[in-house]
Amino acid sequence: MYIEIILPVPFSNTFTYFVPPEMEAHVMTGSLVRVSFGKTKQYSGIVSHIRQTPPEITSIIKPILAVESIRPAIRRLQLRLWEWISTYYLCKLGEVYKAVLPSGFRSETAGAYSERKETYVRLTSLYSIDENLPNAFEKVKRAVKQEHLLLTFIQFAQSPETFAKEIPKKELLRISNSGEAALNGLREKGILQIYEKTISRLKTYSKELKPLHILNILQQQAYNEIISSFRQKDVCLLHGVTSSGKTEIYTHLIQETLKLKRQVLYLLPEIALTNHITDRLKHFFGDKLGVYHSKINTNERVEIWNNLLGDDGFQIILGVRSSIFLPFNDLGLIIVDEEHDSSYKQQDPAPRYNARNAAIMLATMHGAKVVLGSATPSMESFYNAQTGKYGYVELKKRFEATELPHIVPVDVKELRRKKKMKTIFSPLLIERMQETLDKGEQILLFQNRRGFAPGVVCKICEWTPKCRFCDISLSYHKKNNQLSCHYCGRTYQMPAKCPECGTYNLETVGYGTEKVEEEIKKLFPQIPVDRMDTDTAKTNKSFQEIISKFEAGETRILIGTQMISKGLDFDKVNLTGIINADALMNYPDFRAYERAYQLMSQVAGRTGRRKTQGEVILQTSHPEHPLIQMVLQHDYKGMYNMQMEERELFKYPPLFRLINIIFKHKKEEILRNMTQEYACLLREKLGNRVMGPDKPAVSKIQNLHIKKILLKIEHNASLSALRDILEQTQSQILSNPAFRYVLIQYDVDPV
Ligand code: ADP
Ligand code: ZN
Ligand code: ZN
Repeated sequence: MYIEIILPVPFSNTFTYFVPPEMEAHVMTGSLVRVSFGKTKQYSGIVSHIRQTPPEITSIIKPILAVESIRPAIRRLQLRLWEWISTYYLCKLGEVYKAVLPSGFRSETAGAYSERKETYVRLTSLYSIDENLPNAFEKVKRAVKQEHLLLTFIQFAQSPETFAKEIPKKELLRISNSGEAALNGLREKGILQIYEKTISRLKTYSKELKPLHILNILQQQAYNEIISSFRQKDVCLLHGVTSSGKTEIYTHLIQETLKLKRQVLYLLPEIALTNHITDRLKHFFGDKLGVYHSKINTNERVEIWNNLLGDDGFQIILGVRSSIFLPFNDLGLIIVDEEHDSSYKQQDPAPRYNARNAAIMLATMHGAKVVLGSATPSMESFYNAQTGKYGYVELKKRFEATELPHIVPVDVKELRRKKKMKTIFSPLLIERMQETLDKGEQILLFQNRRGFAPGVVCKICEWTPKCRFCDISLSYHKKNNQLSCHYCGRTYQMPAKCPECGTYNLETVGYGTEKVEEEIKKLFPQIPVDRMDTDTAKTNKSFQEIISKFEAGETRILIGTQMISKGLDFDKVNLTGIINADALMNYPDFRAYERAYQLMSQVAGRTGRRKTQGEVILQTSHPEHPLIQMVLQHDYKGMYNMQMEERELFKYPPLFRLINIIFKHKKEEILRNMTQEYACLLREKLGNRVMGPDKPAVSKIQNLHIKKILLKIEHNASLSALRDILEQTQSQILSNPAFRYVLIQYDVDPV
């Protein structure tokens, strides 16, 4: 028997192996087998299919070494999703496999799965018969400690709340306040038995479940519209302003799906948000809910995976983008919350997929429906709703009918001219902060740059420190007096004097969250302030700590990057400051305005979520700018229409499909020659759809020079024809020995 196997390598989709006759019965599609690869390596591979015809023998076909799991480690529909990902996103099945299958399954990865064991105690079979129990007490009559321990065991085991014939050893010793000696005594007398048991790592929910909240009239109406849109369409965009109760609507959709005995996948863009929503959902769905994200350890991952491979696994999975790859049996509904969020796109390594789009494909495979939810939809999704491809349901009012926050623009250019900007805060923002603090309320300050300053410059000779390995200016972090590269993560000591001209005139340029924090502490020395960015909230735990302290009111002012814009629900925030709107709009990217609009609306949306209307102070040099005007008026559609004109003119999404081809090499010259040749070859076939080669904004990372070719492709163009062209061109180019070691990456639908 010959089989095709997916291996965790990026060269080819599958590899042919031979199955020795004695193993044939144990091999099926999806099985995990061990094989040797190359001269020395061994890998676990997934059987993608069993060959109907023997391969043409051109080289030696090796036998598989062992069958590691007979029960398929993945389901057929998963394999189909992998195949779709690899064809659409132009990568190999092995790259998908490597990214997707928990390493605990694979024997070649260290730290493979181990079961969790716990020691338990129970009565021996002789004494678990009620009539024999008095004999047991007879035996311990003269051993007070043993008698006490046995009594505690019996009481605990028989009480109606804790009824259990077995008790974890630790627990028993704790509640009876006994030592090992007493327990061993009882074991030696043949009364109690001590044994090891495999324990699930998946937490159980022990509290009583609550009924769902009743939807208000507008929410009920939106719910009904979604249900009726599902009669014709598989995807529905729920465009609901912040705090309109989208999450509540999801819970009702989930409940309906569970009634049909089908599964639900609830996607969120960030791990940090899963904690918050987990708490909300557990009240309603308890143990039916499983949570999956990258910070879950390998062992737990394997258990979640196995749970879903079983017959009655989780009915709801709440997770980040990688959860689209879990072994669902029968999905009925996928919710993609905050669907506009760019975290749904995996950047590196391959597969560079967008989980929102892949989720729609996954839903099609399962015959499931999809809800995309957002207060600021991506232009792509809104466009699909406009053209009728998706259903569209709008929720314009906040729950409890609080008005959306009042956004007040402040012209900092004018203030600077009048010398009224003494700090980075305008007089109006300072005044409002004071008032808010006086009322006992809380403040959010948004600045989308971490560190103290994004740059340093010598006032005399204009020298600026750059990363030695990347073509990028270093950011200054004051806390440890370091310069840091935000691309490769390397840090450097901040020089005391300019290494170029030797004078002591180094100055920071611009400002990040660290500086905002410093200035705030100067202004309000008594007020507890906290900061949330990738420096302070590196781990999920530190993130949670910052959030909890703010929720509890211990922190009064929270300063942060886009991390504070996402889905958080605080009661007492009635003022938000957007410190520098211009910086958001000035990115060299065609999506800059769309992003800036989304970010500003989302941070604004954290304000005044209960009863009182909140206020947002938006500092900008261009208050008259159309985009700023649209933010002030909460005019999403205005932003959309304005941007669509531009997208049409320059052939950008959602009207055109983009593919970025990224080339990397140590030597700039080789890269230059190669990319020019590549672009020429492509132009012969694709004409003016080919842009570049260009130097990207950051043209060197980790000592590798980078060039890009951008393709702008019509939506109705055949992707398989395009793929053929790209593959041909690539092998043609790489046949030139000079270019052999150039790294080529494809990024389809880059964000
Ligand atoms: P969104 O997801 O649209 O931002 P949420 O679902 O988080 O909005 O709702 C905002 C707040 O209002 C939450 O605290 C939520 O519990 C509450 N809420 C919304 N709708 C209802 C409802 N029908 N019943 C009770 N509470 C609600
Ligand atoms: Zn660097
Ligand atoms: Zn200098």
